[in-house]
Amino acid sequence: MSSTPTHRVFNFSAGPAVLPEPVLQEAQRDLVALPGVGMSILEISHRSAAFDGVLELAEADLRALIGLGGDHHVLFLQGGASQQFAMVPMNLLPTDGVADYIVTGSWAKKAATEAEKFGRVNVCATTEADAFTRVPSSDELHPTPGAAYVHLTSNNTIVGTQWPTLPEVGDAPLVVDASSDLLCRPIDGNRCGLVYAGAQKNLGPAGLTVVIVRKDLTQRAPESIPTMLRYAVAAKHGSRYNTPPVFAIYLFGLVMRWLRDMGGLSAMETRNRRKAGVLYDAIDRTGFYRGTADPGSRSLMNVTFRLPSEALEQQFVTEAAAAGLSGLKGHRSVGGQRASIYNAFPEAGVTALVDFMCEFERVHG
Ligand SMILES: *Cc1c(COP(=O)(O)O)cnc(C)c1O
Repeated sequence: MSSTPTHRVFNFSAGPAVLPEPVLQEAQRDLVALPGVGMSILEISHRSAAFDGVLELAEADLRALIGLGGDHHVLFLQGGASQQFAMVPMNLLPTDGVADYIVTGSWAKKAATEAEKFGRVNVCATTEADAFTRVPSSDELHPTPGAAYVHLTSNNTIVGTQWPTLPEVGDAPLVVDASSDLLCRPIDGNRCGLVYAGAQKNLGPAGLTVVIVRKDLTQRAPESIPTMLRYAVAAKHGSRYNTPPVFAIYLFGLVMRWLRDMGGLSAMETRNRRKAGVLYDAIDRTGFYRGTADPGSRSLMNVTFRLPSEALEQQFVTEAAAAGLSGLKGHRSVGGQRASIYNAFPEAGVTALVDFMCEFERVHG
């Protein structure tokens, strides 16, 4: 994939978020007619050999990036991560069972609340008393013996915290909402019972939800749940029980190729640590900016910080946007600033933000 200059601003949006420019260029180049097919990806049957190839390559590349073995299915679904809040307990939580939820932010809380509709939920750890500014330490986790699963959110998109590594939770399958950090670094997917992610943050466009699920867990679902919401049905039909989001899967596949071209997940982690490090250094340099996440829980993907006043925060967002730095306003529930710097976010954009921050502080500090 080659890259040519364009007039793109630096897009710090939390999601849908920036995509790799070479991916957008390839999709644009091939939009009218996919090479060797003569039709657009938007026009072909989801049961055509051409699309079989697209989906199989996307899955194979994802498996290779993670190092995923044969114990897990990879499913391409719709409904977003929010639909997984329901599908996980529908499929994995028996009526007489209990599911543990580790609550580290508002997405985790939503997941737990949704699960309560289907069975017993135990919040086995929460950092709500600390306004979710950190993730729990391992001695704060109190998993229920025999729990059906333990659910956690690996990266808390809104508050800007991330588990430094996935914790040990005992024998229960670990279920991970990795919507905003899947593939930002290596992940031991083989150790997880289920990992899910809405694609629109770190993996591709909106409309696709990726689910990685241990095969035996798909057999737990009661007969009563709707066909479309059963993991086993999606698995049996190769994610094509009905029409899947063809274009989103195609674009996801291009992102997987790009990740392989970039050197895979270890290389991405090195790059993401460099990007986040530069930004956190700028935040910590003086007292003008203030990081909102505990240093030990800081996210590589969503960097959250505050300024001395809300008036300055508003001015910061407005002036940054005018300078070509878009989407720096924090989530409406927490305020402040949020710079989302997913895999596809260019290093030059981090440099531009740091330069802008220095200048803004010089004028207003
Ligand atoms: C964005 C997000 C969600 C919700 O994703 P949808 O695909 O919009 O349903 C859930 N969990 C996390 C961690 C998120 O960042």
